[in-house]
Amino acid sequence: MSFQYEHVILIGIDGAGNFYRGADTPTIHRLMEEGAGDDYCLTSIPTDSAECWGSMLIGVYPEKHGMTNGTIDDTPYKHGDEHPTVYKLIRDAMPDAVIGSFSHWNPINTSIADPDIGVVKDTDQDGPLTERICDFIINEKPTFLFIQFDSIDGAGHKYGYNTPLYLKELHVVDGYAAKVCAAVEKAGIADSTLIIATADHGGIGTGHGGRTDEEKYVFFAAKGKTVKKGKIKLEIKDIPAIICRALGVPADPRWDAKVPDGMFTD
Ligand SMILES: [Zn+2]
Repeated sequence: MSFQYEHVILIGIDGAGNFYRGADTPTIHRLMEEGAGDDYCLTSIPTDSAECWGSMLIGVYPEKHGMTNGTIDDTPYKHGDEHPTVYKLIRDAMPDAVIGSFSHWNPINTSIADPDIGVVKDTDQDGPLTERICDFIINEKPTFLFIQFDSIDGAGHKYGYNTPLYLKELHVVDGYAAKVCAAVEKAGIADSTLIIATADHGGIGTGHGGRTDEEKYVFFAAKGKTVKKGKIKLEIKDIPAIICRALGVPADPRWDAKVPDGMFTD
């Protein structure tokens, strides 16, 4: 049997694309160096939040999960029987798991994360949310925690993606990610935790939704005891397979998701 992690923490940075490469982001750079990484991880098309977070948390392409930015609202996800969320798969396999979903963009908590399976949910601006995320990690040592930071996408829509003010904001958000990583150390769970950092999409000009390289490629980094250092190749929809593989949760046969070749040494 392969090595099982006790904790997976997925740090999602909305609208970050792969622009960290030109930014002062020591935390993302370190995760890339110390773990497995892909600067050209393909996200879902169209490159909008509902479609892309949906694929990242459900493991299928948007035509299957059915969520779109235009229609996502505060009602629960409708195709869970056919294509369950990663939250649900973990809960079904691990009744006692501590599962969290801390998201600045609240539709993730209302319309992707299941309403009735004991997922601890919180929403706020990135800064105050980070403080509560760190408390949650230290006090609850979650089995699975999903985090969505939104301020970078806000900066892209306001100043333009990959502009100096956008990259300055990316530095700030990298600092939030640093606090999350420090909380994992402080909780004493670093050896048994898989940390993933990625983005839902990038952007071009002051928007996204299209198929340009700037919109469709995002960074992906994963660090853990059995993660083989170096380059891997994956798509956003593969992430639930990685999470479930790490925790020893059975794969869903209807997934488009698969674990990238050579990602784990054990
Ligand atoms: Zn987004």
